[in-house]
Amino acid sequence: MIPAAFEYHAPISIAEATGLLARFGEEAKILSGGQSLLPLMKLRLATPAHLIDINRIPGLAYIREAEGVLGIGALARESDLEESDLIRTRYPILLDTSKVIADPLVRNLATVCGNLAHGDPANDHPATMLALEAELVAAGKKGERRIPITSFFAGPFATALGPDEILTEIRIPVPPPRSGGAYLKLERKVGDFATAAVAAQVTLAANGACERVGIGLTNVGATPIKAKKAEAFLKGRRLDEGTIKQAAKLAAEESEPASDLRGPAEYKRDLVRVLTARALAKAVERVAGGQ
Ligand SMILES: Cc1cc2nc3c(=O)[nH]c(=O)nc-3n(C[C@H](O)[C@H](O)[C@H](O)COP(=O)(O)OP(=O)(O)OC[C@H]3O[C@@H](n4cnc5c(N)ncnc54)[C@H](O)[C@@H]3O)c2cc1C
Repeated sequence: MIPAAFEYHAPISIAEATGLLARFGEEAKILSGGQSLLPLMKLRLATPAHLIDINRIPGLAYIREAEGVLGIGALARESDLEESDLIRTRYPILLDTSKVIADPLVRNLATVCGNLAHGDPANDHPATMLALEAELVAAGKKGERRIPITSFFAGPFATALGPDEILTEIRIPVPPPRSGGAYLKLERKVGDFATAAVAAQVTLAANGACERVGIGLTNVGATPIKAKKAEAFLKGRRLDEGTIKQAAKLAAEESEPASDLRGPAEYKRDLVRVLTARALAKAVERVAGGQ
């Protein structure tokens, strides 16, 4: 329960933090909310020699819409999403996601960027960001680069971030009119990681056909999964019961769950089918103004 010894650094700028990362390389870890990293350190599953605490860097705790993009800064916490009127009124899929993560104590500290940077396929935001087609901003010693969410998750607990890079912002394109989304999760008990969960975001054309759709799956593979076949099937079709049923079946086929304490693989695959159908139906309901 006691972490191995480490050196603590508290930079006050991104440049200082990336400089420290470049200097210490694989020996260093960024500390944001600490809600994943500290438990791992206490179990000695992570033993970084240098901890780079970014919490004192000013200006990173924002959630704001500008120029057609919702930006979520590196120090925006889950509780900030929950308390944001902007998120509640315009991005209910993000509120759905935050609300089912852990418990209020964890959510007061855990950051949304940390949820992605940790690379855990059981974490909830990755599927939602896949559905929303987010783009990530990574700052490193050589400057900034943008990473599409579809190229971010490289394997269990592995991401496209280089050893000297910090995830500084999540950028979500503002959904056009006639859009809606939902995130649905089944957990064994409140606060648990998902047995399976599904994010769905849709935009309908004026004639009611599906113009755009994103579907992300949680904890049913080595990485978060984008259900591309289900998405391709839905495009151009009316989202009626039969279409949604077929898409849900395709999403289930795209999942790659493993049997574990949360249930056998077949059960989880069927859960993906059920949750996809429900998330799509709820997304369509929200297009029409439902909550
Ligand atoms: C009891 C409990 C239950 C939980 N249940 C859930 C759950 O149901 N669903 C869920 O999604 N999560 C759950 N979590 C995980 C929690 O949401 C994570 O803490 C959070 O996802 C990680 O964010 P953090 O800011 O705490 O990151 P930290 O713990 O500070 O860091 C996690 C990892 O990401 C890296 N990192 C963090 N921020 C950055 C950054 N900006 N740039 C680069 N690297 C970075 C760190 O170096 C570290 O390797 C749970 C945690 C606990 C303790």
